[in-house]
Amino acid sequence: PLGHVVVIGAGFAGLTAAKYLRDWSGGNIAVTLVEPNSQFVSCPQSNLVLGGSKTLDDLSFSYQTARKRHGINWVKDSAIAIDVQNRQLQLSRGTLAYDKLILAPGVDFDYSHIPGMAIPVADIPHAWKAGKQTLQLRQQLESMPDGGNFVMTIPRGPYRCPPGPYERACQVAHYFKQAKPRSKVIILDANPDITSKKGLFLQSFKNQYDGLIEYHNNSEIILLDPVKKTVKTDFEQVQADVLNVIPPQLAGKIAQSAGLNNVDQRWCEVDFVTYASSAHPDIHIIGDSISAGLPKSAHMATSQAKICAAAIVDMLAGQSPNPLPVFANTCYSFVDDKQAIHVANVYRYDAQKKTMVSAEGGGVSLQASVQEGDFAQAWAQNIWTDTLN
Ligand code: FAD
Repeated sequence: PLGHVVVIGAGFAGLTAAKYLRDWSGGNIAVTLVEPNSQFVSCPQSNLVLGGSKTLDDLSFSYQTARKRHGINWVKDSAIAIDVQNRQLQLSRGTLAYDKLILAPGVDFDYSHIPGMAIPVADIPHAWKAGKQTLQLRQQLESMPDGGNFVMTIPRGPYRCPPGPYERACQVAHYFKQAKPRSKVIILDANPDITSKKGLFLQSFKNQYDGLIEYHNNSEIILLDPVKKTVKTDFEQVQADVLNVIPPQLAGKIAQSAGLNNVDQRWCEVDFVTYASSAHPDIHIIGDSISAGLPKSAHMATSQAKICAAAIVDMLAGQSPNPLPVFANTCYSFVDDKQAIHVANVYRYDAQKKTMVSAEGGGVSLQASVQEGDFAQAWAQNIWTDTLN
């Protein structure tokens, strides 16, 4: 055996890294995956649960196949601390020794700077991790009277899935159009602008959902009353019937606890050739926790996982990793139950800038279409199959 790699988190990033470490080392690296959840729930397409065209069951998968097929040791537990000096991971029940550690814990949510809502409130779900809160938000929309307001607040970037909130607005408006046509989707965006597929989203807001969606940029929360469900910004005060606060985000808790969130105390800096942390060379970090001008997407997370796995296989075998990694990112958003739009880019490692740089030739759809909706479904099927099998 070449060594023992422990992976924290069986989301898109961690599960992909574990699988490819086993396959590309010919089974010569022992891999242990630590994950508290008993099943995988996909964030991609979870906005469609709010729109009513998917169920959470459609997006929930067993870990069994990946685990058995690739010979991954599975520990159903949470990592709570890292002893960097002794290369030991502390779990809530026991410890694990490692040669290399991969952190893939996704994002954590930071309520501390939301005026009036400094802690999570049970009936104001973020639904920014697919699961119970997705169902809760859908139920709230179903119980809302026709003529009510769905208010969604968007934090300043970077956050997980840059186009996700605008896809969500379309999905909720799609539901309102059929079931509650006098209702409104009010978007309070702390950012100056829509940063992903702007023209395409604005087309859908206008052509498909005219009068149903109100978009306000530069609308940071000044005061939120979680009981009355009012939100005040510099420009207005809105009353919500259903309130969806998407909180500011940062690297997963375990990365924070080990002091690996060394960029703005939020995100983790890594070397893009190996994904080794700039704080500790034996700890690699992939997925939404890392700092980069790269969108935080499932496609990115799995691409990073493959580069990281290949680099660790090389390093443990005493070889140098590929110095010029390349990968792609495609991100589809559904604007109703059938039509989608996309953005796609190739990223190449720039050795001077020491980062991944988007290559010429990427782009977005001309317009929303059913054909792109079919492609979006195929994209999801492919990434689920690659990650979970
Ligand atoms: P996650 O998938 O969140 O996985 C992290 C895992 O780590 C979890 O299983 C968690 O339980 C585990 N974990 C955390 N802490 C610990 C610990 N201490 N010990 C053990 N385990 C731990 N991306 C796309 O590419 N396309 C899309 O269409 C798309 N749509 C989206 C729509 C929505 C509404 C949202 C919210 C996101 C969407 N995304 C999309 C983004 C995508 O879901 C994320 O970028 C992706 O999940 C990141 O993968 P990850 O592995 O870093 O994190």
